[in-house]
Amino acid sequence: MINDDRKGLVLVISSPSGAGKTTICKKLINEVQGVKLSISVTTRKKRNNEIDGKDYFFKNSIEFSKMSKNNEFLETANVFGFSYGTLKKQVLSDIQKGMDVILDIDWQGTRQIEKHIPNDIVKVFILPPSINELENRLGKRASEDKENFKKRMSEARKEISHYDEYDFVVINDDIEQAFNSVKTILFSERLKRSRNFGLEKIIKNYL
Ligand code: 5GP
Repeated sequence: MINDDRKGLVLVISSPSGAGKTTICKKLINEVQGVKLSISVTTRKKRNNEIDGKDYFFKNSIEFSKMSKNNEFLETANVFGFSYGTLKKQVLSDIQKGMDVILDIDWQGTRQIEKHIPNDIVKVFILPPSINELENRLGKRASEDKENFKKRMSEARKEISHYDEYDFVVINDDIEQAFNSVKTILFSERLKRSRNFGLEKIIKNYL
């Protein structure tokens, strides 16, 4: 979708791992028109169910550093000991074309993006229904061993402590409801006057 009458926005969705962020992002891509998910670059190992170029661009540390030096990232962060980065060119050209771009990134990246494009960013934080529920969800993941589980819980608490840097906080105790809340946020933000260049042309006819 190319839309000259409006500039797209960057919808950042952050949460501790296990709060349902990925499901919400996927639903947005599948069910809402005019949105695109930004595919990040990471140095972490590909999981079995992941596809290179679809879930992430998987790179080694040397390749990642090179890209970083070439100024290819809008933001980078170290999460669980691995590097992650959002590709600048793609995101900026998509919003220029009127697409809304979803970023599934952490609080460190969110801060950096806000510095680059303060007027084009909308920040949503997803919370699990409770810390007990989060423990259940993370504990149930087959891939997590005990040490890893503890580390993930401590990372989760750290991520949650940044909730107040976000415009919206959505508690995911029901995935459909949480998804609808995020969709409502996106639709309202799309209607903002500042994002609708075409309005000037229309208003001229009223005056
Ligand atoms: P995972 O490795 O489990 O897919 O993601 C781990 C964490 O890294 C998640 O909280 C995810 O939101 C975050 N993340 C994924 N891609 C990026 C990125 O490009 N930048 C930043 N800052 N965080 C990211």
